[in-house]
Amino acid sequence: MAVLVFAESTEGTFKKATREAVYFASKIAETIGKELITLVMGTVADDQLAGLGKVGAGKVLHVNDSRFDRFDSGAFAKAVAEVAGKVQAQVVVMPFSANGKALGPRLSARLKAGIVPGAISLPETNGAFVVKKSVFSGKAIAHFVIKTPVKIISLNPNSIQVTTVDKTATVEPITVSVQDSDFKVQVIGQEKEAQGVPLPEAEIVVSGGRGLKGPENWGMIEELAKVLGAATACSRAVSDVHWRPHHEHVGQTGLTIRPNLYIAIAISGAIQHLAGVSGSKYIVVINNDPEAPFFKYADYGIVGDAFEVVPKLTAAFKKYFESNN
Ligand SMILES: Cc1cc2nc3c(=O)[nH]c(=O)nc-3n(C[C@H](O)[C@H](O)[C@H](O)COP(=O)(O)OP(=O)(O)OC[C@H]3O[C@@H](n4cnc5c(N)ncnc54)[C@H](O)[C@@H]3O)c2cc1C
Repeated sequence: MAVLVFAESTEGTFKKATREAVYFASKIAETIGKELITLVMGTVADDQLAGLGKVGAGKVLHVNDSRFDRFDSGAFAKAVAEVAGKVQAQVVVMPFSANGKALGPRLSARLKAGIVPGAISLPETNGAFVVKKSVFSGKAIAHFVIKTPVKIISLNPNSIQVTTVDKTATVEPITVSVQDSDFKVQVIGQEKEAQGVPLPEAEIVVSGGRGLKGPENWGMIEELAKVLGAATACSRAVSDVHWRPHHEHVGQTGLTIRPNLYIAIAISGAIQHLAGVSGSKYIVVINNDPEAPFFKYADYGIVGDAFEVVPKLTAAFKKYFESNN
């Protein structure tokens, strides 16, 4: 019996969401007194695999097969199900990433296992196996009981705080009986977003809303983000009118983020927006309306015109960093 975590790799490395899932699974294994097995598929260097020890992995099983360098939910589900059977997994964990969202339900069908996608905290395991996830735009928390012998949980990114340890994982190769014909998806091209700090991983996020009036005014947002080494984000109202790309939109229907610092500029603070950012450690709100709902959730608030405040803030940060470097 074991806890199996699918450690999704991206171009040979592990993103924050994967490291969180491994850590989360290690805590479940610890709580229920089972071994944690970490499964990695595709081309990943040994030092990367061993490095998963830092976030709680003990034994890493590595399917070193380049066919798994590209995600295919059908082939991946078949492989993970096979390994879950081999190690007699009682709990299977994965990140609630785009790939995790595609993999989870297929795995659930294969293993006849109950699944809770997007868990936000460690399950309760005394008696019933209870998994929590946030519902109604973060206004409520639903408690789901998984009753099947095998249980699947995908972890909502940025829901838990990872504490790293000084440990190296042991790596063992493993093969799976997946055929070429199991891979149904053919990737014919890939377009990368512009370089910069990836939004889900960013410790500081500078975000703009409809109050910025138009895409031509985003220069000051980008400049502030550059000075702070931050990622940029936006409200849905902004991405809906194509001022900014959809992958920058945070909230109920966009990304959930949990940076150390979230700077919300000219964003009203609708509940659907808050659903994606309320886990931020510190929230700074800049809005010219003192009644804007966002101020209720702010650690620091500046009532003022963004077009005056933001350039001043950027200049002040620049001066600060210059004199402290
Ligand atoms: C089912 C559903 C799902 C949704 N999902 C999301 C989601 O995931 N994410 C999301 O963001 N929204 C989502 N929404 C939309 C959400 O309800 C709001 O409409 C949206 O967040 C508003 O965006 P905003 O705050 O940028 O714009 P507005 O509500 O128009 O607010 C603009 C703000 O800018 C301020 N402002 C104006 N001029 C200035 C200035 N010069 N300086 C400073 N401040 C200024 C105003 O006072 C105002 O507070 C969803 C809605 C629905 C119905």
